[in-house]
Amino acid sequence: MHLLLHFIVPAMVTGSFFRKEWRLSYLLLISTMLVDLDHLAASPIYDSQRCSIGFHPLHTFVPIAIYFALCFPKKTRLIGIGLMIHMALDSIDCQYTNGVWFV
Ligand SMILES: [Zn+2]
Repeated sequence: MHLLLHFIVPAMVTGSFFRKEWRLSYLLLISTMLVDLDHLAASPIYDSQRCSIGFHPLHTFVPIAIYFALCFPKKTRLIGIGLMIHMALDSIDCQYTNGVWFV
């Protein structure tokens, strides 16, 4: 369910804002899922009850501030947007499973 959102939301964003180069845009947005690699540093690797925001190293506030900054330069905009979508979805997930936006 959650994983599905990580594919659908970027598809909607590319579909509505970046239609001209949707293939590349979608690829870039999807590639932001790589930040979930930091989950590998945690044990257990996947825990649906765990809130990733504030827990995993790449899901804490300093990196999130950097992702936000990436939304502004044209070159990194898509990556920044993708990462912000990712964090937003993870945060919604936390709210859904734990009743908090971050830990
Ligand atoms: Zn994540």
